[in-house]
Amino acid sequence: MDYLPVFLRLEGKPALVVGGGQVAARKADWLLKARARVTLVAPRLVPELAARAARGELAHLEARFAPQQLEGAVVVVAASDDGAVNAAVAAAARTRHIPVNVVDSAELSTFIFPAIIDRSPVVVAVSSAGAAPVLARRVRQQIEALLPARLGALARFLGGRRAAVRRALGPHGRRAFWERIVAGPAALEVLAGNEAAAEQRFGRELRAAGLVNAAGGSGEVYLIGAGPGDPDLLTLRALQLLQQADVILHDRLVPEAILERARRDARRVFVGKETGEAGGQKEINEQLVSLARAGLKVARLKGGDGYVFGRGGEELEILREHGIPYRVVPGITAALGAAACADIPLTHRRLAHSVTLVSGHAATDDSLDWRALAGAHQTVVFYMGVAQLPRILARLRAAGACPGRPAAIVERATLPGERVLRSPLGEIAALATRAQVAAPALLIVGEVAALASSAIAAESGAVPAPAQCAERALA
Ligand code: SAH
Repeated sequence: MDYLPVFLRLEGKPALVVGGGQVAARKADWLLKARARVTLVAPRLVPELAARAARGELAHLEARFAPQQLEGAVVVVAASDDGAVNAAVAAAARTRHIPVNVVDSAELSTFIFPAIIDRSPVVVAVSSAGAAPVLARRVRQQIEALLPARLGALARFLGGRRAAVRRALGPHGRRAFWERIVAGPAALEVLAGNEAAAEQRFGRELRAAGLVNAAGGSGEVYLIGAGPGDPDLLTLRALQLLQQADVILHDRLVPEAILERARRDARRVFVGKETGEAGGQKEINEQLVSLARAGLKVARLKGGDGYVFGRGGEELEILREHGIPYRVVPGITAALGAAACADIPLTHRRLAHSVTLVSGHAATDDSLDWRALAGAHQTVVFYMGVAQLPRILARLRAAGACPGRPAAIVERATLPGERVLRSPLGEIAALATRAQVAAPALLIVGEVAALASSAIAAESGAVPAPAQCAERALA
């Protein structure tokens, strides 16, 4: 970290801005928002600044810069269009140990202005330490889009009730209470501009919390689908709940980049393999119950979606059985992540009227109708351990699938190093071996697989035509 982000209290404090142009106006504006007493040093001011000076919002020293003008200032901004003047301001400020910002010169500055999101009293500051201001502004825009417009009102609403909460609840219950409030209906009412309704709900929740608190408090479980791997594909709700959880139970499919989005002080517990064997699952169930019983907020984070080959159903049953409150957050399942990455529209109107998600493990028993899966005009996505591939292909072949039927393998969809392989079904095993495909990977079979882009193709160079195996394309 090249700069420590801090928030300075400037109310009533003298601040000096050297310069009278647009840039000086922007800097002065931020200083005035922080209620500093701003003096501008410049022979001339742009009309906007002259008007502010005339209204008495800031003082104007109609002069060239001289070091003695720094007397008493707690911050200085050099915003003139003359490099030599700016350098002189920086030198004088440094000698006096006054923090100085020189516009467009990170080297001469001892502090920098971040890109600011102002929902006062909530303020977010973003900086790239001068390395990429445009990027910092883009990050600011992205954060702006995430933050509700009335966030400031919400912060004031909550701030005004701290004392009441302190009186009503013990230190342990308080944090959980605030987290519930911030994510609950009272906050939504404030954000919607209905403070009276918010006030009522808040009062009700506080009384209820006082009772629960006296009885010991209770935890809850969030079953969260983390998506196929790219952290940007988390849902907003997944992010919110990750920020609230005290403990996070995750498996191998959830990459570090996603875990980093959780609350910093949350405890992380790695709970076993991608597919979770029976024994492992039993332990997970027990952990979920005991952690929630201890009053903790537990995030059960799963790759993709918890209800698609994710054993979320079993965890749900256990939670219900024990009367533990839970919330379920859907995630983008691997098939959808892979389809987007590989440009394979799973149900392209002319090529497929259905898509079937199949667990590759089913290739080891007789639970599936393989003849139905082998037919044309449909898309079948196999979630599979890569070791299952030969068995799946043998089953499809035996069920009469055309060897020329288009197929694709998507490896590490949405993750760094993602790869797409495409070939006729009859050649895909050889291609996968040659390319040394590793987990996690999906097999997509069907006319639409021929559309896969940026693919490593079969050696024969044969790109199967979408309708090669079909008698006719779908209308
Ligand atoms: N609940 C998960 C699936 C878990 S089963 C979901 O909804 O996506 C595990 C299988 O999912 C892996 O063997 C692999 O076939 C597939 N998978 C998960 N993430 C993947 C990824 N990023 N790329 C390709 N396949 C993936």
